[in-house]
Amino acid sequence: MLLNPKTANFSHLDQHSKEIMQKTISFFESKGKNKLKKDYHDRVWYSDFLEFVHENKIFSTLLTPEKYAGQNPEARWDTNRNCSFNEILGFYGLAYWYTWQVSILGLGPIWMSSNETIKQRAAKELEQGGIFAFGLSEKAHGADLYSSEMALTPLRQGHYVADGGKYYIGNANEAAMVSVFGKNTETDDYVFFIADPKHKNYELIQNVVDWQSYVAEFALHGYPVKDEDILAHGRDAWDMALNTVNVGKYNLGLASIGICTHAFYEAINHASHRNLYGRYVTEFVHIKRLFMDAYTRLAAMRLFATRTSDYIRSASKDDRRYLLYNPMVKMKVTTQGEEVINLLWDVIAARGFEKDMYFENAVRDIRALPKLEGTVHVNMALIVKFMANYFFNPATYDDIPKFTESKNDRFLFNQGPTKGLSGIGFHDYRIAYNSINLPNIELFKSQIDILSTMLLEAAPDKEQIKEVDFLLNIGELFTLVAYGQLLIEKAALDNVSDDLLDQMFDFMIRDFSKHALNVLSHPLTNQTQIDFCRKMIKTPEPNPVRFEAIWGNHISKLVDSYEMNL
Ligand SMILES: Cc1cc2nc3c(=O)[nH]c(=O)nc-3n(C[C@H](O)[C@H](O)[C@H](O)COP(=O)(O)OP(=O)(O)OC[C@H]3O[C@@H](n4cnc5c(N)ncnc54)[C@H](O)[C@@H]3O)c2cc1C
Repeated sequence: MLLNPKTANFSHLDQHSKEIMQKTISFFESKGKNKLKKDYHDRVWYSDFLEFVHENKIFSTLLTPEKYAGQNPEARWDTNRNCSFNEILGFYGLAYWYTWQVSILGLGPIWMSSNETIKQRAAKELEQGGIFAFGLSEKAHGADLYSSEMALTPLRQGHYVADGGKYYIGNANEAAMVSVFGKNTETDDYVFFIADPKHKNYELIQNVVDWQSYVAEFALHGYPVKDEDILAHGRDAWDMALNTVNVGKYNLGLASIGICTHAFYEAINHASHRNLYGRYVTEFVHIKRLFMDAYTRLAAMRLFATRTSDYIRSASKDDRRYLLYNPMVKMKVTTQGEEVINLLWDVIAARGFEKDMYFENAVRDIRALPKLEGTVHVNMALIVKFMANYFFNPATYDDIPKFTESKNDRFLFNQGPTKGLSGIGFHDYRIAYNSINLPNIELFKSQIDILSTMLLEAAPDKEQIKEVDFLLNIGELFTLVAYGQLLIEKAALDNVSDDLLDQMFDFMIRDFSKHALNVLSHPLTNQTQIDFCRKMIKTPEPNPVRFEAIWGNHISKLVDSYEMNL
């Protein structure tokens, strides 16, 4: 269920992609944990990694769409193999992942643009080992893109000048090209254009973080821009920004899974060798429970995220279901990652602070992921738009099979307009839930039934709908329903055992109960809704035999199965 870099055979990938994954693992294992940690503490810019990536044409192979692949027959944008690469980078260090992630974001508007010259240039830069940057955020505006102040002023025909600052921009120190979002001062239209950090009118002000990565504040002062540097104007530029964030969001979940997996190995290795009061720590009942919770949550994160890849890869203008599952990978999987690290930290305790441990990085880095590409709240506010159709207006689609073919994901750079979200239809969630009969899933189904009845009979009123906090709490319940649906779908495709799936629904029932209590306790909740919420609070079915089977067949087998080379 979890990545083990020392034994992984990447059997779901073609030969060349397997080699990329294995070489990347070898790069980190040869670098070793001591050097990895030293570079982390000394905040060393990872030029060794970027050289390795360049020499092996890794970013150019993984991040160039087929059409711009030139002489490289292996180049394509393939979410399936990018999943594995994300997970590996998260496993070894978020800073390494981040330079890849912001390159993806920087390339997004380029590959979405109709500016062929810039696209050809980007493909060349990638081949020459270039990294990329995405200049969307500004210091004063956070998630509020409407207020962007980067100003592009038209001069004469086809010539402009850009002025303004950008903040939190990864790779903006060394990027071959920076995609910059701004507004045309004459028309007030949005615009995306390319800037070059080497230009004298591009001021690299500072790295705003104390980290290995460079997260820049930069400013453009009278920076000359020509028509040929423009990626898009108006609505297209706006859509490009949001559609690029859609591409990037997905990676956050995989990075979180990588971080948690490495931390899990360290925690279980430590606990299984530590003897207290004559017993190994892994023999304490509460420690077993913490591991069980961490393991099932982590395995579920991976099942959900990889199932979402199937929906992303099968998406089309007529099937935009990924717009629900994808922000859930961003928001739900990454916050589950925080939960997993919290659980493991209670096991590993003081050892998790020590400077030679990956765990020390994990506890800090895991916090970043829910905050990137829009906060949890912003993504939840997006997700609740789908709730009515999801519950009450099921649509018909063909089944989406496992999508591991070595194919270019063309739709990602042609997602179309970003509006009309509440019109997107979803297949009936009951198909998955009714496909299996397990005690905890039956209990969870009864929780869902109460929720959907509440939404019909005591739907949020006008005042409640206006109150974001109220909606966010309802959104947590809805999210769990869709999360469970994809878990069941993926478990069937991957032959996950009934025991393990049922144990996952143990935490699902507890989480549902917790969020029902939050809705119940909200000051705006009315008496009818309170009565429904009380009924939603349920206890999972305990099953010691199932628990011990998972402990024996899954968790205890991980002891000493992986340790990073020193
Ligand atoms: C390490 C790091 C690297 C980054 N790299 C890049 C990069 O390369 N390029 C780039 O462009 N940006 C980058 N960012 C910026 C990142 O995308 C933003 O930090 C993120 O979108 C959140 O913005 P904010 O932190 O300013 O929060 P704010 O937008 O200021 O939000 C403040 C609070 O208000 C809430 N809120 C805001 N809007 C809403 C809403 N509509 N509904 C409900 N709640 C809302 C938020 O959830 C939050 O709790 C990076 C950030 C970090 C920390």
